[in-house]
Amino acid sequence: MGDATEDRVWRDFDLLAPTPEHALLADTLREFVEREVEPQAADHDRREAFNQALFRQAGELGLLGVTIPEAYGGSGLDAVAAVQVMEALSTSDPGFGLAVLAHSILFAQNFYVNASEEQHRRVLPKACSGEWIGGMCMTEPEVGTDVLALRTRAERKGDGYELTGTKTFITNGGVDAETLGDVFIVYARTGEREISSFLVEKGMPGFQLGQKWTDKLGMRSSFTAELVFDAVPVSPANRIGAEGEGTTHMMRNLEIERLVLAAQATGIAKRCLQVMIDYAGERRAFGKPLREHGQIQRYIAETYAEYRAARTYVYDTARRLDLGRTGQRVDADGTKLFASQVGKRAADAAIQVLGGNGYMGEYVVQRLWRDAKLLEIGGGTLEAHHKNMTKDLARDPSLVG
Ligand SMILES: Cc1cc2nc3c(=O)[nH]c(=O)nc-3n(C[C@H](O)[C@H](O)[C@H](O)COP(=O)(O)OP(=O)(O)OC[C@H]3O[C@@H](n4cnc5c(N)ncnc54)[C@H](O)[C@@H]3O)c2cc1C
Repeated sequence: MGDATEDRVWRDFDLLAPTPEHALLADTLREFVEREVEPQAADHDRREAFNQALFRQAGELGLLGVTIPEAYGGSGLDAVAAVQVMEALSTSDPGFGLAVLAHSILFAQNFYVNASEEQHRRVLPKACSGEWIGGMCMTEPEVGTDVLALRTRAERKGDGYELTGTKTFITNGGVDAETLGDVFIVYARTGEREISSFLVEKGMPGFQLGQKWTDKLGMRSSFTAELVFDAVPVSPANRIGAEGEGTTHMMRNLEIERLVLAAQATGIAKRCLQVMIDYAGERRAFGKPLREHGQIQRYIAETYAEYRAARTYVYDTARRLDLGRTGQRVDADGTKLFASQVGKRAADAAIQVLGGNGYMGEYVVQRLWRDAKLLEIGGGTLEAHHKNMTKDLARDPSLVG
């Protein structure tokens, strides 16, 4: 090591809040979650309702455009900040977190990286404030993991396009059962082997809400819908990037998407740990607190070690992730593969430690257990991560280090 100052800098480095801006964001998030998110979470889960007023408040705090430059109304921060936001929201209301994620990362961050300056100026300020609610449309009724086989097509009509097809399971597709979201990135085929990206806006003729997915297992405070495109006319001004660039846009954005979904899982694990540690101290069985029983200690200790491992992997990957570039897929997939299972196991352990109380809807761990399952499916299934990671590691064995 170098001199004492260098040694100090190295030892004081905080992976979870590496700069003063990250430390400030952590404080803002703590207060927002405690005061505003937590009091509404159980009710919105029960009613399967998206909280639009809370979404606007998140916009006022800069959380809806956390990675977008300040010139467009964003916070101008990095992937670590995006992870902080998703982790903090998910300690309380992962469903609301998913709505923020679909908007700020799947839509806004994706749009910022791939759209033109003119498109940025028109769309991003309204997206960052929460005036417009955005989403990203990749999945179709017949096509999920095998996304490059998508069928929605954009055919040339005059100097523009006509968009036809159906997208499903779209987070923020609707704000409620009657109201469409405002702006969407839609991937559509513009040739036999060519996919392009389009900006589709509420009010375009032929663009409508299809099935509203109610009675979801979890993430019930985000709204999930099918979106139907019935010969929607799209002007060239609404094409994002050049024709045929859609696959690259999609793959680029999937890296940050998977990382922030992994952060949702570490948020869930964190809350589950807090709940089970408290409960095991208060509840007694056989004349002593639960936490003095070895089998309960195992749930707590194993969960803690897994949570710390997942969190370190997530933040370390975020620190190295260069937003807007591809090339870190193995760890984007790896963090989600690992953390999503840690999140689900943590929620399961917490229910076990709480016994019958854990099973009941009054306790947060039951809701977190339901929410955690989505993270093994959405944004890439566990099996998709296995496939991608094995391919990447075979191509470049030096990734192992
Ligand atoms: C709540 C929720 C919100 C969502 N939000 C969005 C959104 O905002 N935008 C969007 O575009 N999509 C969204 N999705 C869709 C999500 O990304 C897909 O569900 C996911 O990619 C899996 O696709 P699928 O459901 O069609 O499953 P399928 O692809 O049909 O997979 C079914 C099973 O087969 C397995 N499988 C498939 N191919 C292989 C293979 N080659 N090898 C081994 N196993 C395989 C899968 O791993 C899985 O276990 C959302 C989904 C949910 C549930």
